Amino acid sequence: MTEEYLEQSFLGSLEAGQSMPKATLPEKGMNPDTAETLVQHIRLNEAKADQNLATFCTTQMEPQADRLMMSAMETNAIDKSEYPKTAAMENYTISMIAHMWNIGENKEIFKDFIGTSTVGSSEGCMLGGLSLLHSWKHRAKKAGLDIDNLHEHKPNLVIMSGYQVVWEKFCTYWNVDMRQVPIDEQHMSLDMDHVMDYVDENTIGIIGIQGITYTGAVDDIQKLDELVSEYNKTAQLPIRIHVDAAFGGFFAPFVDGFKPWDFRLKNVGSINVSGHKYGMVYPGIGWIVWRENTEEYLPNEMRFSVPYLGSSIDSIAINFSHSGAHILAQYYNMIRFGREGFTAVMNNVRKVSLRITDELNKFNVFEIVNDGSQLPINCWKIADDANVNWTLYDLEDKLKEYGWQVPAYPLPANRDKTIISRVVVRPAMTMAICDDFIDDLKLAIDDLNKK
Ligand SMILES: *Cc1c(COP(=O)(O)O)cnc(C)c1O
Repeated sequence: MTEEYLEQSFLGSLEAGQSMPKATLPEKGMNPDTAETLVQHIRLNEAKADQNLATFCTTQMEPQADRLMMSAMETNAIDKSEYPKTAAMENYTISMIAHMWNIGENKEIFKDFIGTSTVGSSEGCMLGGLSLLHSWKHRAKKAGLDIDNLHEHKPNLVIMSGYQVVWEKFCTYWNVDMRQVPIDEQHMSLDMDHVMDYVDENTIGIIGIQGITYTGAVDDIQKLDELVSEYNKTAQLPIRIHVDAAFGGFFAPFVDGFKPWDFRLKNVGSINVSGHKYGMVYPGIGWIVWRENTEEYLPNEMRFSVPYLGSSIDSIAINFSHSGAHILAQYYNMIRFGREGFTAVMNNVRKVSLRITDELNKFNVFEIVNDGSQLPINCWKIADDANVNWTLYDLEDKLKEYGWQVPAYPLPANRDKTIISRVVVRPAMTMAICDDFIDDLKLAIDDLNKK
C-alpha cells in the first residue's frame, strides 16, 4: 500500500507505526536503515556520556582510535597465530604497563615477567586470586598441610570490607573464605593495626586496593608490604600481595602524592588494572602483570599452550574469543600520549577534582569524605550539624532532572549508616564541563532548599 515516493522514508513506514518486537523473533525482517533507526531510538533516555559522573569507564576516544577500532572489530584477539601483530601489540602494551609500575630496569616480558590482557579488571582480579590460590596449594602441600581437609585448611583471602564485588565472586566460585577487615571512623582503608590478625597458614594472600571503588581512598600498600615482610620472616607459609589497581593503576603513575604501591614493593606479586577506566579505552579491556614469569608466581596449571608463529605461547586469560580492537586502542593510547601525554591528562583530571571539592565546601552543608588530592574521586556526606531537610538521595534525583548522574549510597558495612555521594572525575570531564556541573549543582541545591 506504501506509495513509491515513501519507500525510502522511515516516517510513514509500517515499522514507524508499530511497537518494537520484544518477546519473540519477528517473522519478517525489515530494511536495515529502519532497524538502525529503531535501535537508536530505544537508547534515547540513556545516560549522556559527558553528564555521566557515575561511571569509571571511558566514554570518549579520539576519532583516530575510533577508526582503528572499527577496522579491527572483526579480529579475534585469542587467535594469536591468525592475528600475530595484534598479539605483538598486546605484549608491547603489557611490557609498557609493567615498566609503568616499576617492574625494574632491563626487565623483559616472558624472560622476567609475564601478563595478559583481559576483558576488564574482573577477569584480572579472578586471575590474580587464582594464582594466589594455586601457588598457596603448592606451598601448603610442600609444607605437609592436608589441604583436602577443608575443615582445618579451607583457604582464605584477606581484604578490606569495601572491596569491589568481583572479590566476592572469586571467593564464592573457588570456595575461598573471605576474611574482611572492617572499616571504621579511623580506618577508611585496609586497617594496618589489625590486618595481620586475620592472617594464618591458610591465607592465600592479601589484596591491597589502589583505589577503593566506593570512596576513592587507597590502601597503604607500602605499610602492608612491611607487615608482610615481617610476617614472612617466621611464617611456615609466606604470603604475597595482589594489588587491585582497577582505576588507580593508570592514574597514580603519572601524578604526585602516592606512596609506593606497585612492584617497588617486594611482596607485591601481581597487579591488575582496567584499560577502560583511566587507560582511556572503551569498555572491554583490562590487564594483569605478574612480577616474575615463574611457576611460583603463575603456576603451570594456569598456563595453556596455544600455537603462535610456528611455535607456541601461553594463553592465561579466562575468556576466550573477543575482538582485538581494544588491544589496538590501548596500544594506540600508549604511543599517542606517551608519559608526557598521560601526565598532562591526569593532572588536569586532578585539577577538576580539587575544584569540585572547593565548590562543595562553599555550600557549608557538606563534609568531604574524599577530596581528590590523591585519586580523582569526589565523595561527600551531609555534615552532622548541617541544617537541611533533604538527603543525598534527593540530590541525586534533583541532579538527574538536569541530566547529571551522581549516585548516592551507603558506605561499606560497619559504617553503612553514613550515606555519601560520589563523582568520578574522568579524563573527559574538562573544566568547562565541571563549570556546567557546578552551575547545575547550585540550582539543584537551591531547589531543594526551597522545598
Ligand atoms: C571497577 C573495579 C573492578 C572491576 O573492574 P571491571 O574492569 O569493571 O571488570 C574491580 N576492582 C575495583 C577496585 C574496581 O574499581
